[in-house]
Amino acid sequence: RAKETGKARCVVYSPRHNSPTEHDISLEAAMFQAVREGEFVLYYQPIVDAKTREIEGFETLMRWKHPTLGMVSPARFIPIAETNGLINLLGAWALKAACVQLKQFEEAARRPLYISVNISPRQFRNDKFLEVLDDAIAFSGISGAQLVLEITEGTLMIDPAHAETILAKMAERHARIAIDDFGTGYSSLAYLKRFPISVLKIDRAFIRDLPGSQKDGAICNAVLDLARHLSLSVVAEGVETEEQFAYMSERGCQYVQGYLTGKPMAANVAITALTERHYA
Ligand code: C2E
Ligand code: CA
Ligand code: CA
Ligand code: CA
Repeated sequence: RAKETGKARCVVYSPRHNSPTEHDISLEAAMFQAVREGEFVLYYQPIVDAKTREIEGFETLMRWKHPTLGMVSPARFIPIAETNGLINLLGAWALKAACVQLKQFEEAARRPLYISVNISPRQFRNDKFLEVLDDAIAFSGISGAQLVLEITEGTLMIDPAHAETILAKMAERHARIAIDDFGTGYSSLAYLKRFPISVLKIDRAFIRDLPGSQKDGAICNAVLDLARHLSLSVVAEGVETEEQFAYMSERGCQYVQGYLTGKPMAANVAITALTERHYA
């Protein structure tokens, strides 16, 4: 266990084997100011039912609206926040704000919806994480069952025993766990047996070349089959074309997320989508 932990830690927690560029350092300084200035906002991307194309829920995606740099991609700032610990603050804010937003979405839609929130490895490991989770649920008044927490295989690998404890506590709150970017990490399938997981999100990398790629098709079919036998739901990520949509839905994939059925959007745009029912 110690060896296993040590290895995974090295992968996740030592970005400094590549020393940060000067650019990263100035971006890091700007981030602290950005928190004070309220430059971080949340966007919401529809997750739709593959049969009806109705919005079932939203994934919460963080955006940084920098006054001069414009929109900074989370692919750039999340890793920095993960390194300096700012992710705990940002993540707690995102979780609470997303839960509050869900209430408003439901009022607009007049039906139950769910909200999916990304939880970074460091946030998941933070001592205060369960308090943050309980606070978000209590403050917003949503039920834990309306919350999906997206974690990666890597998050489970860092310290499986600790992950098991946290996941059990999440299950007590009826919050569901989704494995994000499924198939791209280096976890083993044994984790699907050990942990109470509800959702697999098939990474965009396996969807992109559908329906042409035989290999990607085989992988997607295998994941759908696996999920069926384990009673897990599947979300196909990064669906951009009708052909990709048809390929996945015809093979029993229940949920689809991608530019075809809705890009990440500001909350007010999401509300319009929910009331007008067209959102692509
Ligand atoms: P992710 O969790 O895998 O999120 C999905 C990413 O795919 C998002 O990128 C989304 O905009 C993009 N996407 C969705 N549909 C399509 C499509 O059809 N085509 C293409 N090309 N892309 C699509 P985004 O918003 O730039 O986020 C990148 C990553 O940053 C996320 O990947 C996630 O790992 C991280 N992230 C974003 N928000 C948060 C957050 O609040 N907390 C944490 N911890 N991480 C976050
Ligand atoms: Ca995600
Ligand atoms: Ca993903
Ligand atoms: Ca990803």
